[in-house]
Amino acid sequence: MFIGHFAVGFATKPLAPKASLGWLMLAPMFCDVLWPLFLALGIETTDIVPGYTAFTPLKLYDQAWSHSVVMVLVYALALAGVYFALNRDRRGALVVAGGVVSHWVLDVLTHRPELQLYPGGEHVLGLELWASVPGTVAVEGLLFAGSTLVYARTTEPLTRFGTVGFVSMVGLLVLVYAATVLGPPPPSWQLMMYLAFSSWGLLLWAHLFDRRRARVKSEATSEI
Ligand SMILES: [Zn+2]
Repeated sequence: MFIGHFAVGFATKPLAPKASLGWLMLAPMFCDVLWPLFLALGIETTDIVPGYTAFTPLKLYDQAWSHSVVMVLVYALALAGVYFALNRDRRGALVVAGGVVSHWVLDVLTHRPELQLYPGGEHVLGLELWASVPGTVAVEGLLFAGSTLVYARTTEPLTRFGTVGFVSMVGLLVLVYAATVLGPPPPSWQLMMYLAFSSWGLLLWAHLFDRRRARVKSEATSEI
């Protein structure tokens, strides 16, 4: 899954209003933040195999250090721990932990049965939504549209950048996703690795524009 992970970041903002969107995006993206790093270091490998799934030719059979159940639980605890140590926000820490785990849940939904339980384990998990392009786009598109709506309705811009930053991020993600769906397969896994590295910048971007937005107070809250 791709923009579905960003969707979790937007959707969880009302659950953890004190947490920066940068943290709330980093959590569900964390496995894919580590992935290009592990590829670059040779800890994990991947291949481009046309037709491997209908949606993507990426054969992701060796990503247990970034994506196996055991490692995802370790990352969830670690990231939530760092967040809590820095922010003393228990609610935010819980949402960060949940966000990391959500990556694994959404990837099990989409991948072929290639996800492992632990490094060195069998390739057993994957419900292969990627076998259907319309199915993948429908699920991911609905998740993304719903979550951006939630974020737009529960926060309001304090400055122009609060609007421009948010709208530009949504627009860029939609464009990249459309190019992924409609464009030719990537020429090499290295290109995918560099694209994944570039997503790190989006997390910083999310943090920056989120600081220029405030929580919308509900009518019930504002009357108190
Ligand atoms: Zn992933």
